[in-house]
Amino acid sequence: MYSIMQTKPEERDESGMPTQKILLQIVIVLTVATGILTGTGAKASAQSASKADSASSWTAEPTKPQVTKPQSKQKQSTVRQKKKNINNKQPRGKYKKVNRSSIKRASNRSEDMSWVHLQKKYPGTFALSGSRDKRNVSLTFDDAPDPRVTPVILDTLSHYHIRATFFIVGDRAAKNPELVKRIMREGHVIGNHSYNHAILSKLPLTQFQQQIWKTDGIIKRIVGVSPRLVRPPYGEMKPQQIAWGKQNGFTIVNWDVDSEDWRNNPSSARVLANIKKTLQPGSIILQHAGGGDQQDLSGTIHALPVLIEMLQSKGYDIVTLPELLGRKAYR
Ligand SMILES: [Zn+2]
Repeated sequence: MYSIMQTKPEERDESGMPTQKILLQIVIVLTVATGILTGTGAKASAQSASKADSASSWTAEPTKPQVTKPQSKQKQSTVRQKKKNINNKQPRGKYKKVNRSSIKRASNRSEDMSWVHLQKKYPGTFALSGSRDKRNVSLTFDDAPDPRVTPVILDTLSHYHIRATFFIVGDRAAKNPELVKRIMREGHVIGNHSYNHAILSKLPLTQFQQQIWKTDGIIKRIVGVSPRLVRPPYGEMKPQQIAWGKQNGFTIVNWDVDSEDWRNNPSSARVLANIKKTLQPGSIILQHAGGGDQQDLSGTIHALPVLIEMLQSKGYDIVTLPELLGRKAYR
């Protein structure tokens, strides 16, 4: 790993300093190395899922360390110092994506938490799909607004005159109010996706309520509506939280079709193949209109026109979630 740090003469600029590319490689190497030093592998990956909750952020699934070479104490302390520096330089609010399978393991999901069970227990409040009798489907986009992705998704939807449902993260909305206004102006439906993408099922009831109400207040200030639809990040919500949602007029909406566009930056072909696996009348399709720094949603962006044309050619009507579920969009 250290050989990378010894740059060849042609990789340095006139001042003799390594070029930006090489500096980037060094940072990557150091980041991987610090992962090894701080106790790593799958165990760390699982722990990071629960940490992400308290850290109020979400991270690209941690990459497994490529190198396991032992290091001297001196080198270790240097690397630790570098790690500290790198961490200090990270922008606040860096979005992170959590490994969902880790969350399921961490939360030790019981039968009571299974989505099918919850749908039966809370009919009309916890939904995974609409009626199978009509050839309707809904496109849903989570983690909006994101200036890198959301405008392109909106352009495509506008081109095809399609209306979708966007689940809004409160702290992102506060930073990008114009994008929230645009989503609303172009006829799409807005739903609540928590304030900072917390794993709601791990929060005490009061903190869970704060996640919902804070986002509700932000959306109301920007576009004047209080969304009825709530999608919990990672689809994770406890039965008593759903019961609270029911009492307060919310509808919790997960999905029955996962494009898996959150996993490993898939190609558009992969996104489309994932959607086709479980698509049927009444389906709610999960995609993303925003993501973390490491996330590349170009697969989603490029798949969208193909998906719309494919759905239309198969005779599906693409409708918003309130239309699909027969529920009001706003409270
Ligand atoms: Zn999300």
